[in-house]
Amino acid sequence: MIRLLWTLAKIGVVVAAAVWLAQRPGAVELRLGNLVIEAPTGALLVTLLFFGLLAAFAYRFWLAVRRAPQAMRFGRAGRRREQGYRALSLGMVAVAAGAADEARRRAREADRLLDGAPLTLLLAAQAAQLDGDDSAARRFFQAMVDEPETSLLGLRGLMAQANRSGDRDEALAIAARAQKERPGTPWVLEALFDLRTANGDWNGASAALEALAGRKLVRGEDLRRRRAVIAVERSRLAEERGDKGSALSHARTAWKLDPALPAATARLARLEGAAGHGSRAEKLLRDGWTKAPHPLLSETLEALWSRLTPAVRFTQGQRLLKGDIERPETRSLLADLALAAGQRAEARKLVGPLAGEGASARICRQMASIAVGEGDTAGARNWLARARLAPADPAWFCRACSAVSAEWRGACPQCGVFDSLEWRPPAPPAPGQADAIAAIEQELETGHVAAVAAPSRTEAAREA
Ligand SMILES: [Zn+2]
Repeated sequence: MIRLLWTLAKIGVVVAAAVWLAQRPGAVELRLGNLVIEAPTGALLVTLLFFGLLAAFAYRFWLAVRRAPQAMRFGRAGRRREQGYRALSLGMVAVAAGAADEARRRAREADRLLDGAPLTLLLAAQAAQLDGDDSAARRFFQAMVDEPETSLLGLRGLMAQANRSGDRDEALAIAARAQKERPGTPWVLEALFDLRTANGDWNGASAALEALAGRKLVRGEDLRRRRAVIAVERSRLAEERGDKGSALSHARTAWKLDPALPAATARLARLEGAAGHGSRAEKLLRDGWTKAPHPLLSETLEALWSRLTPAVRFTQGQRLLKGDIERPETRSLLADLALAAGQRAEARKLVGPLAGEGASARICRQMASIAVGEGDTAGARNWLARARLAPADPAWFCRACSAVSAEWRGACPQCGVFDSLEWRPPAPPAPGQADAIAAIEQELETGHVAAVAAPSRTEAAREA
């Protein structure tokens, strides 16, 4: 409405100007040989304006006619591209929903409409992955690697494929290539760290960690812990190749970073002891034990004292741990030393108070040893039976794959996940199990074994 009024206003101004000009007095005279043309100035100007406008319209019309085929072509290509991207997004939705057939169909459609645009390769690769067709997926990812704009995405896809098939060397080669092409990409650095730790390449892992730290991708507590774990492993490698100096210096680094990491304390104490610094090693172990009494520390202590007689070891233990005697783990450790020294009365004094209801398997075993030493065979049998039912001893379990490892490692020996081993008891048996055993024990005591066993046997037969 406003536009219409504006146009009318413009036309009004032009008409008014024309009328005003036409009414002005004055004339123009044009002489060409004998020909004389004479016209009022206003009328001439209006005529010139009219022809000028006519020429402008004619030119616009000619341009429109000339461009028509191209515009039609553009319109068609635009619609095609629009359909292609629609197929692409529907395909991505199908991938996310896990609909393999739909994803494959959309991938073909997008590829046809978008003339093989790089992104259609990603959809095709994901559709192939969904279908379980790994070789097709690899082909599509490889094609992406060949295009500069999708190369990194293709490498990421290829690496995921290699990881899935468990080919760590292949994955590492791809990560190294990605690092060369686009240095410092976060996922590439993370992948290099994970793969190197899993492969036991601890020097390489340290370099990858520092690159991550440099980009603030790992920081704070996490960074400190990772550095400590890597330092313990670098110390182990140095020791294996006979480089005692490096072994000791890496162990010191690890211990300073994380004194609560038992593997770091135990390793440093052992190396200090081997270097002739016995009292320094004892102090490290005692301080570590007071913070967290881990069996790694007591084992290291016993190894440190391996040249001493059992009696001296027991005395040394009492001296070293006298400030920590109320802790159950300390009592248990001293009881072991006392038993080795043949001092059963001392051992009983230490673990007797811990041997009540819910005593650990270790305490029950120690009580059995004391009973054996005292010639109490029935008592020993009783303690061993209790040991079997008691909560089991802790061990190194992998948080990622649940595998048990005989010793601590910076990465799980089974699945290779970094810093995944935790010291914990095995998962307890199903709650019904203990109750069932307790019920049979009760029957044993009251002498109704046959009455208990018979119905359950017939029930089992009926079920079978
Ligand atoms: Zn594992």
